[in-house]
Amino acid sequence: MTDCIFCKIVAGDIPSARVYEDAGVVAFLDINPVNPGHTLVVPRVHVERLTDADESVVTAVAAAVGKCARAVMAATGAEGFNVLQNNGACAGQVVPHLHVHIIPRSASDGFRFGWRQGGYGEGELDAMRRRIAGRVS
Ligand code: 5GP
Ligand code: ZN
Repeated sequence: MTDCIFCKIVAGDIPSARVYEDAGVVAFLDINPVNPGHTLVVPRVHVERLTDADESVVTAVAAAVGKCARAVMAATGAEGFNVLQNNGACAGQVVPHLHVHIIPRSASDGFRFGWRQGGYGEGELDAMRRRIAGRVS
């Protein structure tokens, strides 16, 4: 896609700090890291959301996330890491090319997710379970 910043990074048309690449993906440092070593894994093919990607693309991305996460941990000495993948503007996706964040973490880094968690009313959990399970294909 011509005006996609991550397609341009994949093509080498704009620079990036690449840490890994293979036939399916490119991984590079996020330009505005949550913590140093924050890495993005992107498929070479342009798809916007995880749900737009073929299984082969998902598999390639997942394998690369595992490899890169081990490297990020070893290189940064982080205590842990988050794997984050935003889909849609409402979910925080700014760049509309599928990407997975690998964010090295430490207990003292001050970064906290603000999840607001709820619950289910009577019968709602099982109704939701059935609605989702019946659509997995
Ligand atoms: P999103 O919010 O879409 O999940 O995350 C997009 C990420 O891409 C952000 O963390 C942002 O810092 C990063 N980013 C945006 N433009 C560039 C760029 O040109 N180069 C690099 N290396 N990262 C970028
Ligand atoms: Zn793209």
